[in-house]
Amino acid sequence: MPRFAAGVVRFQQEVYPERQAFFEKLSKSQSPEALFITCSDSRIETAMLTQTEPGDLFVCRNAGNIVPPHSSQTGGITASIEFAVSALKVSHIVVCGHTDCGAMKGALNLDKLGGLPHVREWLGHSRAAVEIVAAIGGDLNEHDKLLMLLEQNVLLQLQHLRTHPSVAVRLAMGDITLHGWVYDIAEGEVLAVDLATGKWSPVSNRYADAFAKAAAATEHEHSHA
Ligand code: ZN
Repeated sequence: MPRFAAGVVRFQQEVYPERQAFFEKLSKSQSPEALFITCSDSRIETAMLTQTEPGDLFVCRNAGNIVPPHSSQTGGITASIEFAVSALKVSHIVVCGHTDCGAMKGALNLDKLGGLPHVREWLGHSRAAVEIVAAIGGDLNEHDKLLMLLEQNVLLQLQHLRTHPSVAVRLAMGDITLHGWVYDIAEGEVLAVDLATGKWSPVSNRYADAFAKAAAATEHEHSHA
């Protein structure tokens, strides 16, 4: 039996019974906080990384965490974005890249993708990011060059997101927030970009103000309890 099938049996025997009421409630509706767009890479565990529960994230994954710019053609990513943003009314969209991304390494060496015509074509949606790295990151070592591409690719896909009508409307209404992240698998670090300044910093710093506000609010609540 494959390990993942054995896992289902273990889930049914050990996990589900403990939280049956939670799953029954969950079965009736969902109200996720965020649309989380990341790479299909097997090493990214979204729930573990964000310490969220089933129902918290509407996840959309593909090779390279790519968001094709809006067009009149329908694709899986476009439909998922529309559903999450217009129907589920998520308040946040995260585009999350990651270190050692095979897709992004491929984008830097397209000629090595001869046997993968669909991957090659798909990575066309990252071309502006690749060209930016070629133009301003030429002197960097391989590690830093890839990191720059991971960051530029996230910024590019956030740009593409803004072309989707559902996202554009919610941005105009001011009730949705975009986030750009890069997850470092070896370090457990997540860098997040400040879209106002273009500066990347660890999540703990990037959201420090929000964390402080949340902590103050909790304290306030307690002092009035
Ligand atoms: Zn990847």
